[in-house]
Amino acid sequence: MRGKLCYNGCMFHTADPQDILSGKITDVYFDRTVRILKEQGINPVVKAEFIAKNLPGEWQWAVFAGLEEAMYLIKHLPVKVRAMKEGTVFYPFEPVMEVEGRYQDFCVYETAMLGLICQASGVATKAARFKKLAGERAVISFGARRMHPILAPMIERNAYIGGCDGVAVVKSGEIIGEDPMGTMPHALILCMGSTVSAIKAYDEVLEPKLKRVALIDTFLDEKFEVLNVAEVMGERLYAVRFDTPSSRRGDFYRILEECRWELNLRGYKDIKFYVSGGIKEDDIPSLNPLVDGYGIGTSISNAPVVDYAMDIMEIEGKPFAKRGKWSGSKRVLRCGACEKSHIVPYNEAHQQCECGGVFEDILIAVLDNGKYLIDIPTHKEIRAFVLRQVERYPIHSDRA
Ligand SMILES: [Zn+2]
Repeated sequence: MRGKLCYNGCMFHTADPQDILSGKITDVYFDRTVRILKEQGINPVVKAEFIAKNLPGEWQWAVFAGLEEAMYLIKHLPVKVRAMKEGTVFYPFEPVMEVEGRYQDFCVYETAMLGLICQASGVATKAARFKKLAGERAVISFGARRMHPILAPMIERNAYIGGCDGVAVVKSGEIIGEDPMGTMPHALILCMGSTVSAIKAYDEVLEPKLKRVALIDTFLDEKFEVLNVAEVMGERLYAVRFDTPSSRRGDFYRILEECRWELNLRGYKDIKFYVSGGIKEDDIPSLNPLVDGYGIGTSISNAPVVDYAMDIMEIEGKPFAKRGKWSGSKRVLRCGACEKSHIVPYNEAHQQCECGGVFEDILIAVLDNGKYLIDIPTHKEIRAFVLRQVERYPIHSDRA
């Protein structure tokens, strides 16, 4: 029996960008609020801030991401925005963004503004944590396939700015301006019939600039398969990738160690080791001595979101906020020398840190009635900014 077409024709169940820009991606209570306020003739000038009171898991800091998209969303509105630079490492309770304007003008955008920064910041933070744990080893985003494809470029862009060295999806590579990275799927090996014939065909067909990396867990034990591909490829083989199924994994470290031994014994010391398949933060420190690169999937693409909330904290120039929120507009000051952070009332002057360093105002004016007050950095520049900061922040690894 044939299935019926869905009532409005088959389609992707996602918003059109125009729906987001027109305010249709809003919780209906905001729509109703605007109707009521209009009817009542109430439309105060308010300031609203975006803060996260808590961070997921063991996170003590997070990376603020999603600003470029948030600015794109509200640049057509008569509002002023102050924000941290995209990629800023921040602590709970620090406002990352502040919007000032007549409430009716931006009320319906709260849902979309939060959605843009909550998920982007979660992905960027998770990537930053993996990269910090992996150090100079490559971390590649492999998890687009676990998420709705319409989100793949957004997810991988934020994985990249957070610190990933590369992304897997073609469209994501176009957006960030880097060549996408990848090795070979098991499907190629199954179609070709053996790992050796697959890597030989890979070498024959693909352009020389692409590194020759053989996936070696498809048919045989890793130890014998690495030797098979090393012998047939010699110095042309850049790396092998271990995606060993969890049912066969036993002690993954020992498998890698044994393969390294066998390769080294035969003079293949330069062949690098990539690993993938359900790698968690906790696995990284123990695998680092044997690994040159990680393919990280679901842990990054399905990163926990940063739970920012948007709250009004000033109405018509007067501090005014709900229970549980600090009223009034604020500055966030960060010591350039010791990273100490201070949240102070907006009118308070700059202070010198007790360490002797100078506090920098990290919540800066970025948008004024459609006019950009900052240059939008490239994705590569944001990534470098994140990596510079993250170096100085401690990490306690998560199980995820
Ligand atoms: Zn200091």
